[in-house]
Amino acid sequence: MPQPNNTASALKGPTEAQSLPIAIRDITKTYGSVTALNKVSLDIKSGEFMTLLGPSGSGKTSLLMALAGFLRPDHGSIKFGEEEIVLKPPHRRGIGMMFQSYALFPHMNVFANIAYPLKIRGRSKSEIKAAVDEVLETVQLLGYGSRRISELSGGQRQRIALARAVVSRPKILLMDEPLSALDKNLRELMQVELRAMHERLGMTTVLVTHDQREALTMSDRIAVLRGGAISQIDTPERIYNAPGSAFVAAFMGESSFLPVTVSASGYGYAGKPLKVASSTAVGETGLLVVRPEKLELLNSGADNQASNVFDGTFERLLFQGDSCLFFVRLADGNLLTMRRHLTQGEHASLPQVGSPIAVALPENETFVVANDREA
Ligand code: ADP
Ligand code: MG
Repeated sequence: MPQPNNTASALKGPTEAQSLPIAIRDITKTYGSVTALNKVSLDIKSGEFMTLLGPSGSGKTSLLMALAGFLRPDHGSIKFGEEEIVLKPPHRRGIGMMFQSYALFPHMNVFANIAYPLKIRGRSKSEIKAAVDEVLETVQLLGYGSRRISELSGGQRQRIALARAVVSRPKILLMDEPLSALDKNLRELMQVELRAMHERLGMTTVLVTHDQREALTMSDRIAVLRGGAISQIDTPERIYNAPGSAFVAAFMGESSFLPVTVSASGYGYAGKPLKVASSTAVGETGLLVVRPEKLELLNSGADNQASNVFDGTFERLLFQGDSCLFFVRLADGNLLTMRRHLTQGEHASLPQVGSPIAVALPENETFVVANDREA
């Protein structure tokens, strides 16, 4: 369906800003002995798509609820633009919200569900009709107004919940795991649609997810949470390719870690020097982060030129459809995994399982991080 290019401008007044920056300062929240949020500070730019990513219990929902006004922090400040809102009730914060359980009203039709936030704000009937139709078009469900909620698929309900979240044209949109109830294909489609809608409407958006790929796909920046504090804030590319710690590296994707030594003369692994592009190691040890897709398979005998070569035993090959995973056991017992796409011809020329194998990590892909995994 062709998208109207005037949706955003028709939805908002010509001089009205469509987004606001968010400034979070020193937000702390404890529940008895549990510290849900520990002095969190975060600046979100006007119009930015920021994702709060972290394992279960890391404080994502607590932080989002503090923004929404359903959680009163023990300490700290939150500003939307110039305005301190930490004591303001939720309905006066001018935000749109969407959650995993979309909480549509089952006894109302689609139109009435979406119209609800405008109705309680006392908008006129004609205003409400125009706004609902526009937002239905934005979520590609124009003409569905009189449908019952029970007649809709899961994906359509999710779009209605999204339409309801943005119909009052909030400058800030907050979403907590909005797609986690959907199956994989629909979730990926909705990720693209959500991102496209963000680009059209331009509101500052804060998304909570525990799904790394979703965060990488959708965000301008990602804040990785751990134990109620922010571990790293960065662009998806940097979070993935230049993680600041082993925790972030492990959380963001498949990786092997090798213990390395750090000294004035450089980096070393298993007594051999290592060429390293970047490092956040502190002290005399660190962990080398090895993403499976960054490793290169060396031809036996050749390629002595390559730096960062790891010799080991080809322990196992896993066929995974679009690619194969090689398990390489190093002499000291550490395991590296390497991911390759193999053509039919390459399958025939692979080394035998159990035979020696050499893999290399290009210098520009070589990152050493501080070992904070057990911290
Ligand atoms: P996430 O959304 O990242 O899974 P939460 O913000 O829900 O994390 O929770 C952070 C921590 O605070 C967890 O340890 C959780 O058990 C605790 N917590 C959250 N809400 C409450 C509550 N109402 N009472 C007690 N503990 C809570
Ligand atoms: Mg949560």
